[in-house]
Amino acid sequence: MEKEKKAKSDFRYATGDVKVPWAAIGENVNIDDVVEVIRFLIPTGEDTVRYNERFLGVEEEIKKLRETSRYATKLSLADKVKELEEEVKEFLGVKYACFVTNATAGFGIGLKFSGVKPGDEVITPAITFCSTISPALEMGAKVVLADVDPRTLNIDPEDVARKITSKTKVIMPVYIGGYPPDMDAIMRLAEENDIAVVEDAAHAFGGSYKGKMSGTIGHFGSYSFHEVKNVNALGEGGIVVTNEPCGEDFPKARFVGFDIAHPIEKWLYDVVALKGKGGYYSAAGNHSSTEIQAVVLLSQMKRLTDIIEIRKKNAEYLNSRFEGVEGIVPCPLDTDEIKSTYHLYLFQLDPDRLRGDIQDFKKGLGERGVTQVPHFAPLYRFSYMKQLGYDTEAIRRSCPNAEEVFLHRFTHLPLYPLTQEQLEYMADNVIEVVKEMRK
Ligand SMILES: *Cc1c(COP(=O)(O)O)cnc(C)c1O
Repeated sequence: MEKEKKAKSDFRYATGDVKVPWAAIGENVNIDDVVEVIRFLIPTGEDTVRYNERFLGVEEEIKKLRETSRYATKLSLADKVKELEEEVKEFLGVKYACFVTNATAGFGIGLKFSGVKPGDEVITPAITFCSTISPALEMGAKVVLADVDPRTLNIDPEDVARKITSKTKVIMPVYIGGYPPDMDAIMRLAEENDIAVVEDAAHAFGGSYKGKMSGTIGHFGSYSFHEVKNVNALGEGGIVVTNEPCGEDFPKARFVGFDIAHPIEKWLYDVVALKGKGGYYSAAGNHSSTEIQAVVLLSQMKRLTDIIEIRKKNAEYLNSRFEGVEGIVPCPLDTDEIKSTYHLYLFQLDPDRLRGDIQDFKKGLGERGVTQVPHFAPLYRFSYMKQLGYDTEAIRRSCPNAEEVFLHRFTHLPLYPLTQEQLEYMADNVIEVVKEMRK
């Protein structure tokens, strides 16, 4: 651990040469904690006794570092977070990237800079994770759910066009399973109607669309590094990106409008409102991330190509097995223009060719010990929409594809690094269940 590299410029940790520092950063963090973290992150394997013996050796070696270590280094928003942000900017080819607590926080920042105010409308697909719409709801905006493309489950630009009104401020396309939505059509609509685009790229870190990295095509994009995503920052994390000049203010938007670079008279900092499209707004809270999360994310970024490649191979394998099996509609794969991150395998049935539908299929597959979770249910089905006064029946009627695919056609199969045995077992049993459902 590097002891001397404390952030001396920041008054909160002005430990420089003073006799009595105001705060000794991480004074309670020491080698013992590090050992516990390793124990937690690399849990006991099958042979507990052998593992514990070997770990004891590691533990002793690490604890020897006590002799040369004093305090932990700065733990929140410092050099590693900056390094990560630089790396991400370079990787994605964007001007601004800001490491935040999660993708949802990034959506909120994007919406606020886009000038969303109470009563404004935000269009999202009907099928997505609920957090796509939660910042808009929280801001008092009206969420307008657009129908989905039945093949990809991504937002249908034609339905977006029908649902744009003079109050529409933002469109939020979602990369379901990592597969890009029709961004050309979305961007055209946005431009024609002076609407901002905030991309929900929670599944899409490392994918691309027509030569541009997924999540960097609209005005704002936000990625998730939650533990179930392809890449994770120790359980939680997000990065919000933009090429808009307001990206300069991302760090203030991340942390309560705090402006340390321009302190007011006789005080240590300033707190500022942020300038979005159409005026000033107050920053939404504290979305700061930790240095340790940044360290882990930097490490995982080195493996990103391999992570995506393994998932892609697994998807290709499943497609090769499902090809020509009557009743199965396989997952869309990459094309010259489209690179998915293969977060999820989108599996669909053609119920016209089968007895029963996805509900029967899920039951059959579940009985064989293969888990599949149909991310996600159409949002109009959840209680809060009705509780917040939305006419969910009318919304449902306006999203026939979302309703049909949800009830009858789709589920998601996992693509993480499964063993060959698991992959084959999954493919064999999917095919068997579908065969049993043949008419
Ligand atoms: C996971 C997920 C999110 C939320 O990401 P967080 O980092 O947990 O905020 C948003 N949208 C979709 C589609 C997701 O799957």
